[in-house]
Amino acid sequence: MKESASPPPDQAEAPDPLVEQADGSFEGEPRVLKPRRAAPADAVRPTRADINLAALRHNLRALTRTVAADKPAIWGVLKADAYGHGAPAIARTLERAGIDAFSVALLEEGIELRAAGITLPILVMGGYYGPRHRGLEDALEHDLTPVLYDLEGVDRLAALASQRERRCAFHLKVDTGMARLGASLADVDALLDRVASAPQVELRGLMSHLACADDPSSEATALQLGHFSRVRESAKLRRIEPAFCHVANSAASVAFPSSRLGAVRPGIALFGISPFFGPGAPFGDFAKELRPAMRVRTEIVALRTLADGDRVGYGHTWAAIGTRVVATIPMGYADGLSRALSNKGAVLVRGKRASVAGVVSMDLTSIDVTAIPGVRVGDEVVVLGNQEGPLGSAAISAEDIANWVGTIPWEVITSISRRVPRFYREP
Ligand SMILES: *Cc1c(COP(=O)(O)O)cnc(C)c1O
Repeated sequence: MKESASPPPDQAEAPDPLVEQADGSFEGEPRVLKPRRAAPADAVRPTRADINLAALRHNLRALTRTVAADKPAIWGVLKADAYGHGAPAIARTLERAGIDAFSVALLEEGIELRAAGITLPILVMGGYYGPRHRGLEDALEHDLTPVLYDLEGVDRLAALASQRERRCAFHLKVDTGMARLGASLADVDALLDRVASAPQVELRGLMSHLACADDPSSEATALQLGHFSRVRESAKLRRIEPAFCHVANSAASVAFPSSRLGAVRPGIALFGISPFFGPGAPFGDFAKELRPAMRVRTEIVALRTLADGDRVGYGHTWAAIGTRVVATIPMGYADGLSRALSNKGAVLVRGKRASVAGVVSMDLTSIDVTAIPGVRVGDEVVVLGNQEGPLGSAAISAEDIANWVGTIPWEVITSISRRVPRFYREP
């Protein structure tokens, strides 16, 4: 027998173990970790997310029309892999469609967009560049605009700007009532003094984030906007006039015209999901204009007929009452189909809803298809989105899933995991 000289492929691919250095970095480590996602070409399972790029452009136009009276720049928020839609393709599409700039949460996300060839301004909103990873240096190297909120950050940026003999721009984040990230109102004057005396840095943007913008009746937004405008006045007294002031997420962009300052930062609405939801949600007309960009589908891979009393799945939590037909789909909680949908959620088969039978497992889920005549292995199963079938036409929205699971649509779409390949469509 002949011995193979090369190791098995999985071992050949494995990198050497990383060795931690005195400064906390790892030898041989890429400077910033690149996310890995399943590629369509690698797809074996029929489980995938179809992303409709025309819907994305449509939503950008709908949003642009909604805020048109105030003409803010649109800084699309593409954090968390563009809310699970795949940031590089989404950014390229929106860039070509004329969006003004992008915002992301992480430095890594900004670098990924630059690697994808994006040339628009990119704001790194998370404001955390880490003492270990020299993140502020990386941000400047990749032409990403940092968000800063404390003296240390401003001093560090000023020092880097001096080294590079060029002026470096940043946005200052102010905490006007979210108590999460940003300079507190008590500290902001000292920060502005420092900025005013540091010619190496340019305060190009002033930003804050609103806590209750999805509730038009809440008084919190007016209070936050009031604080923000006082900070703008303080800046002006020091001859600091940022080119961009921005506070509005999708909800504020729609519900609070006074929050449309120089720019707005919509995320969820770009992907076709209204930030207003639940019974009696306001701005129904706006919601109706949006088109969800993501559709998640798979196919039935197994079908079985169960007798009265037969049980399904881990823990045997579901039992057949009479004769039932149960189908198996190759999608589970590791793909983003929440385990909280166990015995609760539904999917679409042949244009009709079929409920989840038993617990959702990691890779597989069972569904009760007893009421779906003509069901077969290979039938399409829609987990999120619309389906036209011989039994009718039906839809499951991110809001439906959020209600079943007890969460919000944002979490539903960002949970579709990297194991599910994204297929981009231009219908
Ligand atoms: C996520 C985020 C947004 C966008 O919010 P949506 O509700 O998805 O429109 C805007 N600004 C900041 C700071 C964010 O973190």
